[in-house]
Parts: sequence; C-alpha cells; structure tokens
Amino acid sequence: MIFPAEKLTAAVQNPKLQTAIYDSTGRLMEKRRVAIAPDSIDDFQAYRTQAHRIKQHTIENLDYYLEQFERNVSANGGKVVWARDADEAVAFVRQICKEKGVQRIVKSKSMTTEEIELNHELEHDKIDIVETDLGEYILQLANEKPYHIVAPALHKTRYDVADIFTEKLGEAREEVIEKQTMIARRRLREKFVTAELGITGGNFLIADSGAVTIIENEGNARLSSSAPRVQIAVAGIEKLIPRAQDLATFLRVLGRSATGQPLTVYTSFLSGPRRENEIDGPEEFYVLLIDNGRTKVIADPAKRQSLYCIRCGACLNHCPVYRKIGGHNYPWVYSGPIGAILSPQFHGVATDPWLPYASSLCGACAEVCPVKIQIPKILLELRHEVTEAKRVVGDGRLEKLAFQLYSFVMTRPGLYNFIEGLAPRFFPGQSDGKWLNKVPGVMSIPPVAGWLSQRDLPPPPEKSFRELWRERSGGRA
Ligand code: SF4
Repeated sequence: MIFPAEKLTAAVQNPKLQTAIYDSTGRLMEKRRVAIAPDSIDDFQAYRTQAHRIKQHTIENLDYYLEQFERNVSANGGKVVWARDADEAVAFVRQICKEKGVQRIVKSKSMTTEEIELNHELEHDKIDIVETDLGEYILQLANEKPYHIVAPALHKTRYDVADIFTEKLGEAREEVIEKQTMIARRRLREKFVTAELGITGGNFLIADSGAVTIIENEGNARLSSSAPRVQIAVAGIEKLIPRAQDLATFLRVLGRSATGQPLTVYTSFLSGPRRENEIDGPEEFYVLLIDNGRTKVIADPAKRQSLYCIRCGACLNHCPVYRKIGGHNYPWVYSGPIGAILSPQFHGVATDPWLPYASSLCGACAEVCPVKIQIPKILLELRHEVTEAKRVVGDGRLEKLAFQLYSFVMTRPGLYNFIEGLAPRFFPGQSDGKWLNKVPGVMSIPPVAGWLSQRDLPPPPEKSFRELWRERSGGRA
C-alpha cells in the first residue's frame, strides 16, 4: 500500500467521522479509567506485570505448550490442524465444507479469520458465510473491513446502520439502537439453526486442559460453537497460555482494558465435541492453529513481545494517531499501534515503510497495554530497519546527501557564518510570512511540498545572533 495521503486527508477532514471516532474511543477510555481504579480492582498494575510474565514465559516455551495443547485436545475427542499460512488454513476449511456438504457457516468475531481473508475466499465457493457479531454483521452487509479490533463498526452511527439495514435487508427504516439489534437478532436466529458449520476465534488456548476460551458480550460465539454439527476454532499459535489458573489474570485485565467491564458477559470454554450424555455441542471439533508469519516474529528477541497481544484495543483508543486517522487507513486488518508494529513484521518493513512512523511516540499505548508490550520501543526498532533497508537498496540517497552537506557546513564556522549572512539577503521576510515555500525547486520535492503545504519556517532575521551580540557587546566576539 502506498502512503494513503488522500484517504488520510479525507478522514481528518470528515467532521462526522471524527466525532464518531472521538466519541467512541473517548467512551472506552473513560470506562477503562473507572474499571482499573483502586475501588474496582486491587493493584491493576500487578496484574499487568503478571500477564506480561505469563505471556513471556509461554512465547519462550511455545513449542512445549503447543504440543501439550494438541495432546489434550485429542484426549478430549477433538483435533488440532496446523496451518503454515493463510492458504493452508483456507484449504482446510474448504476441505471440511466439501466433505460435510456445508452450505452455510455461522461465524463469530475473529481477527485471525480476517487476517486470512476466510470470508472472501469461501464466498468464491458460493458458501453462505454469516458474521454473527452485531458489529461484524453490519460491516459484512456494508462490505467493509473492521475499523477497530474490539468494536469493528465503531465508525458507524445508528443512522448509518439504519441506512444499511434498509438498503441491504429491505427492512423499514429504524433508528433506535435496541430495535436495530432486534432486527439483527431475528435475521441471525434463522442462520444459527440452519448452519452446518460454526467458526469461532479463540481468545486463549489453555495447554493443560486443551480448552479454547472465547470471551464475548453477545452470546453469538456460544451459539456459533454449539448449534452447528461441526465446529472449527481458528487461532494464531501465540494464543496459548499454560494453565487454566492463568486465565484468572487475563480475565481481570482483558475486559477492563477493552470495554471497561470487570468481566465480559460470556466466557465459554470449548473442549471437544459433544459427549455421550450431553444435549448440545458439535459432533466434530477442530482447532485450526495458524502460523502465517508468527514464527518469524518469535525468532526476533527484540520484537517477539508483539505476540503477547491479547487484542484488547486499548492502545487504539488511546492513540492520538488512530483517533485522528481511524482504522481503515492502516494497511492490514490490525490497526492502531499494534497494527503499526505487527504489519511490518509480518509483511516486511519495505511493504509499508511509512507505517512505523504513524506514531507520535507519546507512549500512551505502552502505558495502557495490559500485557505491557513496549510498542514505542518496537516502533523505533522498525524505523531503524526502514532506514537500513533504504541504505541497502540505494533509496534515501537524497537524505544522506543532505546530512553530509549539513555536517560539512556545521563543522566549518567560517562557511556557516558566510551562509548565515547571505540568507536574509536572498530570502527577505515575505508579507505572507512564508519563505521556504519560495525557494526555487523546493516545492517540486514531494515529501517537502507535502510538509510545506501546511506550514513554513519563520523567515531568516535581518541580523544573526552573532551580529546582534557583537553590536551589543561593543565588538567583542
Ligand atoms: S498491544 Fe496491548 S493494548 Fe494494544 S491491543 Fe494488544 S494487548 Fe491491547
């Protein structure tokens, strides 16, 4: 993706969009602030440290915990399927659809399935794959990608939703949120009872019990995993945690960081297919574990902590850049600060070299991250890699030349004084306060022109500091 200058400008200059993003992220920030206060939880910071340590330990021993998880899923009657990349993952789901004669899939929210573009791929096969999370359902109808990893339709107002339901579902226009929810509920019920396959994500995969934990507020993931005959939970390999008791730490920090809830409404544990004396649950249960570039990230000790992410979205809500440009201006499904560090690591820094710079480095993301990922530090590492890559391919020569020139002048005081004396003569103060804009040729350099279109440097003063000093001190240098 080339630098999306026009899209960025359009987002920043859209007052309706700006209000929607600011209001929604602002509400989530305030709810988090209240939920982590000492009268709600004792020593939230200690839980963050604990969560960080558990993730660190797990990622550093991931092979051990993955094998343990697989053994326990098998012991529970389920099956773990390994996918090296998106193609292998999609091929497995396709194969199940073919073998089981699947015509309809109900699916709960999962960023990993967004990552492998599962819906898009299966729609080619004429399979009716239905998003059942309300926000995702709205976006599927609108043919859009998630705007936020927790609140996918954060940018839509209830008036936008009324338009979408009228246009795509043929429903009478309804602007009351509760009534819109009832429309979605009625439409989705019919899908749940007729789907042959349910696909969910997985927030945490517990190695010592082989269970997949799903955390949600709407109950749609529970229905997607219990109503259809076959179920597939899709998750990245980094979602492992060692023990069921570790979950207590993550449940305390995740809901609070994401939506300001002490606990989300539903916490489901999927541990295999329906057993003999059970009345519901799938007949077949699969866990599709996806690498898709994660082992490459693990191999880098300086940046592997990027995989500790539990997708709470707090870093997006607190990021001044995300709050201005919104979710659709990031090149991949992961947006905000976590997207700015994940995308370059998965796709290579050369793919979107501007992305690690989409940050003011204010540090808010690291302050709020429940697993203490040092995002600004990783952004600096990535910026270093971008600079190194430019050096290798010969790009950035202009920048190098500019710095050589700068260094040449700054280390020669006589030359510096001479140039300083010339500046006011060649670039006298302009009535519009601009001067760098008027230097011949400057506006033909695209990045410089972009910068200067919004601002300029003050014109050089008539007398330099040295000249003023000499005058006022009676000629002393
Ligand atoms: S990086 Fe941290 S704050 Fe951001 S989504 Fe992941 S866990 Fe949440």
